[in-house]
Amino acid sequence: PSSFCSLRRVLLKHHVRAEKAPTGRAPLFHTSTRVAKAGVNDTLIGKYIAVKDNIVTADQPTIASSRILDGYTSPFDATVVKQLRAAGAAISSKASLDEFGMGSHSQTAFEGAVRSPFTRNGEALSPGGSSGGSAVAVVDKSAWAALGTDTGGSVRLPAAYCGVVGFKPSYGRLSRWGVIQYANSLDTVGVLAGSVADAESVFEKLDHHDARDPTSLPATVRKRLMPCNKEKPGPLRIGIPREYNISELTPPVHDTWISALSALRSAGHTLVPVSLPTTRQALSAYYVLAPAEASSNLAKYDGIRYGQRTPGSDASPAEGLPLYAKTRGEGFGEEVRQRILLGAYALSSEAIDNYFIQAQKVRRLVQRDFDRVFIARNPLIEPTEMPELEGVAAVDILITPTAPTLPPTIAELKRQTSVESYMLDVFTVPASLAGLPAISVPVPLSPALGDSMDKHDVRSVGIQILGQFGTDSLVLHAAKVLE
Ligand code: GLN
Repeated sequence: PSSFCSLRRVLLKHHVRAEKAPTGRAPLFHTSTRVAKAGVNDTLIGKYIAVKDNIVTADQPTIASSRILDGYTSPFDATVVKQLRAAGAAISSKASLDEFGMGSHSQTAFEGAVRSPFTRNGEALSPGGSSGGSAVAVVDKSAWAALGTDTGGSVRLPAAYCGVVGFKPSYGRLSRWGVIQYANSLDTVGVLAGSVADAESVFEKLDHHDARDPTSLPATVRKRLMPCNKEKPGPLRIGIPREYNISELTPPVHDTWISALSALRSAGHTLVPVSLPTTRQALSAYYVLAPAEASSNLAKYDGIRYGQRTPGSDASPAEGLPLYAKTRGEGFGEEVRQRILLGAYALSSEAIDNYFIQAQKVRRLVQRDFDRVFIARNPLIEPTEMPELEGVAAVDILITPTAPTLPPTIAELKRQTSVESYMLDVFTVPASLAGLPAISVPVPLSPALGDSMDKHDVRSVGIQILGQFGTDSLVLHAAKVLE
């Protein structure tokens, strides 16, 4: 069909590395048109899906936007890619990211920065990260939907900054087999799409146990999860966490959050203020735990087995740095090197008690905060260890902004310190630490605000819905109510 041919032409335009990508385009590359034979009931037949380039594909290279993996092609497809192909989808392109998923703006890729299609007064905006290439593929319609990964917000933040839907399922629902690890106790495959229904249809195809992933939820646990309820549940009890009303929240985000909440109240849902006291510490705990896991996961990139190698000799250190050190020094970008050092320090005998162990304790407190407010009980916690429910303050879901600000301009980013940039993850990391399902839905700015803005700006705010572990279908349902 002709639409297929024109889409193919669009995709071929992306068959380039970023340096050669046309202005305003995300660096998407390695185009493929392989479509697997599909079964009769498959809803993804003929759909083009972009895949974040830290998810391996056998027919195209996968480099996680890192020089250290330059030239690497996996001998197998990741389970989620296999599932997509089996459902009749075609992998349109591999989408660029922040190197190994470490970042919030998709600016650190070896192949070049991802460009947002949006601008503010002529200035380029951040597309969000680390799944920025996936979000841009959905916005510019070179893909119908895209897979991303979310370790601390990397599906939700780019969705918010690009005005699309970004869904991070409960940890363990989607297979991580073939997903290049960043921080494996937090890494989750997620879906970006133009609507909640589209994201849901991709999620449903992937939501199965995978014996190859030891953290994939087994059938016994899946049976205990809230059943996928296609019927409309009645009015919802919606929690508004007090601790999310922080001073860094900018007026457009604050006002859109409030107007979304009042629309939900008018539609018959009940709003309940709740308290999640460990929210602030969650961010610090995340930035200890994620780098600690990364420093261990990235130790395997040594230039010996695969990827890029800087010539040198291990045999005679007198000739300078050994091969292993040279390869890693040149193969990893600055942010990744910084995180490896941070993580290795947090795990060192000198620091482990004060940093890593404390952060693990905070992680447990974050989970307990959520267990106190959700009516649905956490299926992973023994009933005897479950904290007491808040009673009158118990809720079905929580609604918060996805990020405290609208997307910053690239120029603003350049003036930000690392810590200021990490701050943008304050609303997304708590769900990651507790493994909860969370979705970012674009809610249009009020006409009063939207009309005064540049028409090329993102005229929506990402609003986040969180649910108890395993209540993914309820979260998706609530997102449709908000949409
Ligand atoms: N911005 C966060 C980080 O840099 C989250 C990244 C992610 O979810 N992959 O770690």
